[in-house]
Amino acid sequence: MSLPASPVHAQRLYCHTPSVRGSGPVAYWMSRDQRLHDNWALLQAQHMARTRQAPLIIVFCLVPSYSGGARRHFDFMLTGLRQVADSAAKLGIPFVLLTGEDPPGELAGFCRTHAIGTVVMDFDPLRTKQQWQHTFAGHWEGECLEVDAHNVVPCRWASEKQEYAARTIRPKLQRQLPEFLDPFPELVPHPVPWRGSLLPEPDWEAASRSLAAPEYGPPLSWSSGEETALDLAREFIASGLSAYAEKRNDPTAGAVSGLSPYLHFGQIAPQRVALMARDANWAPAESREGFLEELVIRRELAENFCFYNPVYDCFGGLPAWAQQTLDDHRGDHREVVYTFEQWEAARTHDPLWNAAQQEMVQTGKMHGYMRMYWAKKILEWSASPEEALSTAITLNDRYELDGRDPNGYTGVLWSIGGVHDRPWKERPVYGKVRYMNDRGAARKFDVQAYIRRFFPATASERQGTLPLG
Ligand SMILES: Cc1cc2nc3c(=O)[nH]c(=O)nc-3n(C[C@H](O)[C@H](O)[C@H](O)COP(=O)(O)OP(=O)(O)OC[C@H]3O[C@@H](n4cnc5c(N)ncnc54)[C@H](O)[C@@H]3O)c2cc1C
Repeated sequence: MSLPASPVHAQRLYCHTPSVRGSGPVAYWMSRDQRLHDNWALLQAQHMARTRQAPLIIVFCLVPSYSGGARRHFDFMLTGLRQVADSAAKLGIPFVLLTGEDPPGELAGFCRTHAIGTVVMDFDPLRTKQQWQHTFAGHWEGECLEVDAHNVVPCRWASEKQEYAARTIRPKLQRQLPEFLDPFPELVPHPVPWRGSLLPEPDWEAASRSLAAPEYGPPLSWSSGEETALDLAREFIASGLSAYAEKRNDPTAGAVSGLSPYLHFGQIAPQRVALMARDANWAPAESREGFLEELVIRRELAENFCFYNPVYDCFGGLPAWAQQTLDDHRGDHREVVYTFEQWEAARTHDPLWNAAQQEMVQTGKMHGYMRMYWAKKILEWSASPEEALSTAITLNDRYELDGRDPNGYTGVLWSIGGVHDRPWKERPVYGKVRYMNDRGAARKFDVQAYIRRFFPATASERQGTLPLG
């Protein structure tokens, strides 16, 4: 029986080993796209395995001390992965959990032991994953294929260079959307069972015990997994999307999707959410377009930034005009300078900033509007822009459930260093980087209600809070 051609668009694929042709079992190295359905990488792996009538397995490499990860991130991730493993078993696809500090080495050893012919990997623009993939492809003798399952328009294909701003990438993405925003085929029960040597059963409790992750902030009550993510997306599209354009900048309105942790861990495909939003013709066009602008254009701009800029989390990653203006204002007087410990403990003179920090620590997710204010004030009240970047990135990665994401690095560098933005009126400390203040916030929403919710201390209870100056 001959199979139809791959359902995966050829431009989603990138071959790391052009001179090698694999045969035999196919392994999908799941990393960033932690879902069974709507996953182009897994669909491609299954297509290859079916074409050669070979078994298919999913392998995940758990790194107990993964950089910057906290207990809250691992708990969310392991709960979701466990569901993936259970659902995969029902489709005849074994799931293997490898644990160790050297994923390329662990995986290469596993592939040799089990005579794997091809490894299909997720696309990920961040440094650590890029290094793992290059190391693996360079040291393993089999075929290695990357599939972009995280972007609607594949990142490598959307643009071949770092884009300046949303206005430069938008037309490129919009032009290609009709070609890439296609419906997903179903993953089918895999017809060829695993016949090789015995595979290790995932031991989720042992994996959880092996984690070296610190306990930052209280445990979170988010439920995790592919089904939860899809339910949340359906609920938002049905009842939240209509008001998105009007209320998305109001952190007290509950008007945003709340999908970012699920998107970050790949528990839902951005493309699935984009298809749902595109087809929600009962919602005003302004809301649908506004949401797709964030979900597709801004998110994929962040992927582009991190993929093409090797210093996406440093001062050197800022545009030249921003480096120059921040350099010019290094010596400016700061009305106050906080230490990392003061930032982390929400002990500033500004109740609005403290409320934002507490929202992040307590709930694992700060509202998008407040993230901009939060980061800009870190610039204003830090000794240097480098220190501000380091503080914002460390806190973001430590406490946000969606942290350690291209959106996070790009969002911080946008706020503190003008990435994808333009020069504005010059002022102390910021130079020409866009400024924000609490009066602007008060024009958009009920600032006091937000403060009461996340930083409800009365004036006398706020004694630990620092006075200004
Ligand atoms: C300083 C700062 C730090 C940030 N850190 C992160 C982070 O660590 N992880 C993260 O995913 N996002 C981050 N963002 C981007 C944005 O704030 C969040 O994606 C958004 O608040 C997530 O909430 P939501 O899913 O309810 O958003 P919605 O408004 O419902 O948007 C839906 C999706 O669109 C995408 N999106 C929304 N806003 C942006 C944006 N400005 N840039 C890129 N994509 C966007 C996200 O994938 C989001 O989940 C940061 C922004 C700033 C300014």
